[in-house]
Amino acid sequence: MIYTDTRDSSVKVDFKTAVINGMNSKTGGLYIPVEFPRMPESILQSKIEPSFRTVALEMAKPYCAGEIPDEDLDAIIQDAYPFISKLNQIDPSTYVLELFHGPTCAFKDFGARFMARVMSYFNRENKDNLHILVATSGDTGSAVGSAFHNVPGIDVTILYPEGKISPLQEKQLSTFTGNVRALKVKGTFDDCQKLVKTAFVDNELRSKFRLSSANSINISRLLPQGFYYMYASLLAKAKAPVSNKMQDPAIIMTVPSGNFGNLTSGLIAQKMGAPIAGFVAATNSNRTIPDWIATGKYEARPSVETYANAMDVGAPSNYERIAAMYSLDEVRSMFASYWTDNDGIINGIQECHKKTGYVIDPHGAIAWKAWDEIRNGGMEALVKGAKNDFTKPGLTSNVPSWAKEIINKNAVGILLETADPAKFGATVKQAIGKDPVIPERLQKIMNLPDQAIPMENDYNKFKDWLMATL
Ligand SMILES: *Cc1c(COP(=O)(O)O)cnc(C)c1O
Repeated sequence: MIYTDTRDSSVKVDFKTAVINGMNSKTGGLYIPVEFPRMPESILQSKIEPSFRTVALEMAKPYCAGEIPDEDLDAIIQDAYPFISKLNQIDPSTYVLELFHGPTCAFKDFGARFMARVMSYFNRENKDNLHILVATSGDTGSAVGSAFHNVPGIDVTILYPEGKISPLQEKQLSTFTGNVRALKVKGTFDDCQKLVKTAFVDNELRSKFRLSSANSINISRLLPQGFYYMYASLLAKAKAPVSNKMQDPAIIMTVPSGNFGNLTSGLIAQKMGAPIAGFVAATNSNRTIPDWIATGKYEARPSVETYANAMDVGAPSNYERIAAMYSLDEVRSMFASYWTDNDGIINGIQECHKKTGYVIDPHGAIAWKAWDEIRNGGMEALVKGAKNDFTKPGLTSNVPSWAKEIINKNAVGILLETADPAKFGATVKQAIGKDPVIPERLQKIMNLPDQAIPMENDYNKFKDWLMATL
């Protein structure tokens, strides 16, 4: 597969270059495949429930063609996914797609574990270590750290803002050993990101070390996130006649979003033939994308802190890919968009629990709120011409192409549940008065010692440390 660049379509690189470079430092653009080949019809048209790993392998093949032989790719997928996503029906027209069954209990395991194995594969003939630097506002760091733990030839340095992430997230980050280490930075997430970005353009560092990034701009994290969209949409179609009493429902994916990597992966799956009728872009008070959809103007801004902290992103990096793949009109016709504030998050956890018994996390709760508003009159009001005030929580006023399916009650919503509620226990307890069940793999790390290294928010100190340590 050839990959091009969101800012310069004359750029042509192979998969290995796109993965190892992460982004094109010459243009500042992001890599995207030049085409999105359709999945085999035998899989798309099958009426039986699909196998996750078969779907994954078939989806991944064209993007790795000529660079990773099918047997090796199959081994990578088998090794990356001992767990799968689970589609859990919570009411007659709603599923929760649980993406938290991996080691760090958040959806980023899907992308990070594939990326780690692909990077290691491409690095296998190199004598020098590849050094991954990653800034995290929470879940990215633990997913990346866990995915690369003990992967040969690669080490990882994670920077996180001390005290600004949940205690459990901090525990996950600070207890790595061996080739993965964490720096607890006295600053904000933006400070962490700035330290990392400065390191990447520091010629002295670059000449001494092979540095790479592992954030959601890397194409090898986006492609595998498409696996669960393909899998879940095919599964929901196969189940619909029995589970939803519908023959051929429109499938609406509701995606709690921050950097919009997850949603972009859904777009890729749709281009490859996944039976997805539309998307709901759901955000917290960091409403850069809903505002863009409402006004047509894209304005990045500083992030604000919310209960759904893994989505606290004011300048979503994958806007660049979405805008390169679609016009604004196309986006308005594919997406409904919705945002809510902290009160809405608490209310979403409560309402979802009250109506369905399901305990949802603060990120998934935004998807629930959006979907529940859409199917309970919100979409119908838009079709009838309601003009919502986009500066207030709720839907933006655009009417997506799939609106009539909602009004005809021929739609099934799939809410992407991006984290285990136990990772955000305090917020969940505030909402429903009880603590979520803590899975065993999270309980285990609670007793491990904090190994994180304290770091000032000071580039020279960070650089000295890198020089002495890498
Ligand atoms: C990272 C994250 C998100 C946001 O995903 P993007 O791909 O950045 O849009 C949502 N929920 C959780 C729990 C996350 O960790």
